[in-house]
Amino acid sequence: MVLCYIGLGSNLGDRQQYIKAALRKMKSLTRTKVRKVSSIIESEPQGGPVQGPYLNAVVELETDLGPYQLLAELQSIESALGRVRTTVNGPRTVDLDILTYGDVCMEEEALCIPHPRILEREFVIVPLKEIAPQIIEKIKKTRKPVKKVLKKVVRKVVKKAVTKTKLKKRTG
Ligand code: AMP
Repeated sequence: MVLCYIGLGSNLGDRQQYIKAALRKMKSLTRTKVRKVSSIIESEPQGGPVQGPYLNAVVELETDLGPYQLLAELQSIESALGRVRTTVNGPRTVDLDILTYGDVCMEEEALCIPHPRILEREFVIVPLKEIAPQIIEKIKKTRKPVKKVLKKVVRKVVKKAVTKTKLKKRTG
């Protein structure tokens, strides 16, 4: 099993329901176990057209899926939850990004790991630090932020983190 971190974002419709639905779908992914879920935070949109604020979270999972298989599964969750790609960085019901996949480093257009913009995005760093502070240091060794991190993008915590034990209790 490979340890991975996935970033979630939503800024259309019932954002919390979209994040929860994406989580449920990730929990039922084949050959995959969700281990931790960060707090859900609210953040200002960065880049793209004028749009509403986002809810963001990060999930730790273990998977036997390869990186491209995992990407395909995450993209089908996005489609199932009504994501339509219109404008770059435009509003979306749900966005799922592979932040890290084990120690893999790859630089392909279709899949770039660690995700190239992690260290520029406070809305990723905050929830990622909450569940995996050690990962940030690891990423810093392979990725340099291209732009300055925009502080004060995160507005508030909407829902507290779910730990491994709580996850186990919920799923029985
Ligand atoms: P987005 O609009 O942010 O969902 O970007 C999706 C596109 O980015 C897809 O075409 C993916 O193939 C590509 N991509 C590259 N690296 C990653 C990654 N680490 N996680 C998710 N999508 C990625």
